[in-house]
Amino acid sequence: MASAIITGSARGIGAAIALRLAQDGYDIALNDISEKMFENNDIVEKIRETGAQCEYFIADVSDHGQCENLIKTVKEKFGTIDVLVNNAGITRDALMMRTTEENYDLVISVNQKSVFNMMKFAGTVMMRQKKGRIVNLASVAGLYGNPGQINYSASKAAIIGMTKTAAKELGARGVTVNAVAPGFIKTPMTDALTEEQRNKMLALIAMKRYGLPEEIAGVVSFLASDDASYVTGQVIEISGGLSM
Ligand code: NAP
Repeated sequence: MASAIITGSARGIGAAIALRLAQDGYDIALNDISEKMFENNDIVEKIRETGAQCEYFIADVSDHGQCENLIKTVKEKFGTIDVLVNNAGITRDALMMRTTEENYDLVISVNQKSVFNMMKFAGTVMMRQKKGRIVNLASVAGLYGNPGQINYSASKAAIIGMTKTAAKELGARGVTVNAVAPGFIKTPMTDALTEEQRNKMLALIAMKRYGLPEEIAGVVSFLASDDASYVTGQVIEISGGLSM
């Protein structure tokens, strides 16, 4: 059976993507930064109920060596790595003038360097297999900017450039690399925003509602499917019409 690895997938959008890819027939390698993310969490059971194999692997994806080890372990466990979804991400929001160097570097490291780490090691496996699908989680903040997110928008804009570069480097080996750019999706990450911030966003969304993690998972499922075999280097915005 084919397998998929989804980073930062103990909860939120990553967990929804993992469940959807399991329903699509993939065995699932979940990942998150700490063991406690999988305590009091039924994601592994839910995925196994679909008939898929599912294991979780603890690794900090901002760490180059841990990613090398993660990919090696997942390859040993499942035999192949057919889909990589770079989903792990964090925010440390503040206006630019108040953003500390530490929080700038942290967000770049977790959101952006992780994508390099994982594409490098999983991409090597996929090139040898002569097939593979990589989907990176960008954001509308990376496309249009967002006040209070200098670090986050930089990391997400970089992911778009990295997606196109990797698509060009890996295309001839049968590996596609695409990005999705979610708008405002209801998850623990956005639950942390203030009521005022949330209402401001809602006013800008054509569909006048927030997105659901499952609505991101559906597009990722398409990009991983045979129907998307000739789609690479693209960024699909999933924002309910936030910007047109
Ligand atoms: P979330 O609920 O916070 O989930 C992200 C997961 O990644 C968390 O479980 C987090 O663990 C984990 N993680 C953080 N650092 C990690 C690391 N170094 N290594 C491995 N795992 C790590 O976020 P989400 O809202 O589902 O977002 C998922 C992705 O979509 C992110 O890349 C985000 O930027 C992107 N996105 C989200 C939205 C939205 O509206 N929600 C919009 C646009 C883009 P901890 O909780 O321990 O940090």
